[in-house]
Amino acid sequence: MSIIKLKNVSKFYYNKNSISSGFNKLNLDLDMGEFVVITGESGSGKSTLLNVISGLDSYEEGEMYIDGEETSHYTEVDYENYRRKYIGNIFQNFNLVNSYTVYQNVELVLLLNGYKKEEIKEKVLEIIKTVNLTKYKNTKASKLSGGQKQRVAIARALAKDTPIIVADEPTGNLDVKSAKSVMKLLKDISKNKLVVIVTHNYEQVEEYATRRISMNDGKIIEDKKISAYEPAKAELVQYRDLTEKNKLILGLRNAFNIKTKFGLLFLVYFFLTMLVFSEYSSLNKASFDAELEGDNYYFSEKSPNRVILKKNNKTSFTEKDIDSLKNMENIKSVVKEDMLLDLSISSMSDGSHYIYIAGNVKEIDKSERLDKGTLPERENEIVFVGSKDSYYLSFFEDEILNSEFDFQDDKTGSILGKFKITGIKYDDSLNDNTSYFLISKSGLERLKQSETLIYNKQDMKLNGHIFSTEDDETNRFNIKKNKSVPKGKVYAYSELNAYCENYTCLDEKMILSIENIYYKKDLEVTIKEILNNDNFEPLLGLKPENYPYTIFLNDEDYDALISKEEYQVSVFIDDLKQSDKTLKELKEKGYYTYFMKDNLVDEAAEVKGLILMFRAVIFMIATGSLFFISYFIIKIILKSRNIYFSTIRILGATKNVAKQLLDIELLIDINIAYISFLGITLLARSGIITNSYLKDMVEFFTFKDFVLIYVVLIIMSLLISNRYAHKLFKSSVMKTYREEV
Ligand code: ADP
Ligand code: MG
Repeated sequence: MSIIKLKNVSKFYYNKNSISSGFNKLNLDLDMGEFVVITGESGSGKSTLLNVISGLDSYEEGEMYIDGEETSHYTEVDYENYRRKYIGNIFQNFNLVNSYTVYQNVELVLLLNGYKKEEIKEKVLEIIKTVNLTKYKNTKASKLSGGQKQRVAIARALAKDTPIIVADEPTGNLDVKSAKSVMKLLKDISKNKLVVIVTHNYEQVEEYATRRISMNDGKIIEDKKISAYEPAKAELVQYRDLTEKNKLILGLRNAFNIKTKFGLLFLVYFFLTMLVFSEYSSLNKASFDAELEGDNYYFSEKSPNRVILKKNNKTSFTEKDIDSLKNMENIKSVVKEDMLLDLSISSMSDGSHYIYIAGNVKEIDKSERLDKGTLPERENEIVFVGSKDSYYLSFFEDEILNSEFDFQDDKTGSILGKFKITGIKYDDSLNDNTSYFLISKSGLERLKQSETLIYNKQDMKLNGHIFSTEDDETNRFNIKKNKSVPKGKVYAYSELNAYCENYTCLDEKMILSIENIYYKKDLEVTIKEILNNDNFEPLLGLKPENYPYTIFLNDEDYDALISKEEYQVSVFIDDLKQSDKTLKELKEKGYYTYFMKDNLVDEAAEVKGLILMFRAVIFMIATGSLFFISYFIIKIILKSRNIYFSTIRILGATKNVAKQLLDIELLIDINIAYISFLGITLLARSGIITNSYLKDMVEFFTFKDFVLIYVVLIIMSLLISNRYAHKLFKSSVMKTYREEV
């Protein structure tokens, strides 16, 4: 029984608008043991015939039998198996992997067919010796002469050890001497095999041929027995699949053995990584910035990096607490009397005309330079700071300067007393609606006392009546300190008389108490004077109209009553990107935290959300475009790999194996590019590289982002190799060979 049998087989080539015939209605029987030489003019269909019988190309008509089996139902996988088990190809143009050494070229066949690397070394060396190339085993295929190359190709066929060897003009590119030795070699290895050789030089093989076939115009015109042959039986080698380890070995080899290809892929992946990161970081930055904007209705110092702290156990802050806060890594500053940060005051109408100026209050620096007026010296003097173009400074500057205004605490409306504007400073970085005040140290002290009282509940118990700052207007009262009042005594306002016998509270005892969520303190005092318009100024040196419903207390008593303890402290975070970690540390230290950034209400949030979403869409479009741009560049770079993948396919690699090898190759490239990029960002982060573009970029990355982008890049890389493999294996081997993928 013949091993290959063709019955009326035709092969057509379908081109864009024409069909041409490769060969027509061929009948042919080939036996094991034959040495068949095919000759014929160029274009007579010899190569086409060889490609069809070796399963590299399809046929259109007739029947082909392999070992008695009809092949019309063969799928691409069946042909793959057939080639693997039966066919060893040798081509005119050698089809070696040029970037591999002689050893690697031969080894490749065995690796692809599932041999372990260790067990094949001897075999490979032996085969190389058979073809007489031991001296060149470590030479790259590209450096060999034509004859040597063809001997490598024969060595490869030997390694494959198939029953059929198909050689298409193996000596076509060789000089006479090399041609002779190649033919001899073919003869030597042809024992018990079927050899089919196409050649122009019949004389070269005459002495080995058992049969000669001449072709012309797609037909066999002569088929002649030359000599007898020893019939043989096809001995099939049992092949295994490429092992995972060998996949990795080949993938690594392929990733690095062509330097330019590696360099180009590295560059593409590196820039791809960088651009994706850059896009992503600008998105991150935009959403981060958006989070910093907004308002807070409770606090007037709204820096997003402010964290207001209270102790969970409700005790006051000790020096040790403050020091430990100051020593924390990501804390820029600690503000003890943080209530003052939120102190916002505004002017009240003075009856005749109304000028409304408002803002936060800060202690003035003695070296401060003013644009108008003088620095404040006394505790009731103050400097106004605003934009020069603001409404009040452009129209009422003269009215404001050197005038006295009543001020109130903005949040509670509590009256704070009169302040005189001694100076004006322009600050054009402020917008029209913001302004602030600068005040002397003693002035700030005065404000602090008022604020303390505002934020602490004060009670006064007199004759069984309780007056409290938390009551309605009628029971309101104020406490002020004054040096003129003797210790243990108070000067009380006259309205209190209504609550005492005989309409006078003189010499009555009262209990003053002060209370907030952290502490409570009582003080018993005696009313020494009832204040009225006549005795007010002589007793206290103050004007009565500024102090309605006021109890005056001796300085010492006052300080004893009002705690100096700090129950609330603000810290300012240095690097907001690390805020999560810092907040966690603060909580672990036993603090209740109020993080301003998380408590900013942004009225434009919806619009900004839309803008961010729009940016996210742009990010995705940009990433998608980058993907396609890199795909096309990588495709061009991989074009040089078409031959490689077709070659390993001829040598017995399946589509899956080829795809996996490409996967490994590209994954190695992308990982190297990614790690290099990561290295550079780390250097930028640690300040070794001081490139502001890089620095800005990495600032907005968390570990999560790095992982996310890594996954995106890996997926992109797999998609690219998938598409490439798909195109590469879409059609028969010869078609991929001919066409550009
Ligand atoms: P040979 O190897 O004997 O020189 P071929 O088998 O290469 O001849 O070609 C046989 C015929 O098939 C020729 O007419 C040739 O033009 C045609 N042919 C070969 N390859 C193709 C192809 N890819 N597309 C179209 N026609 C082809
Ligand atoms: Mg040809």
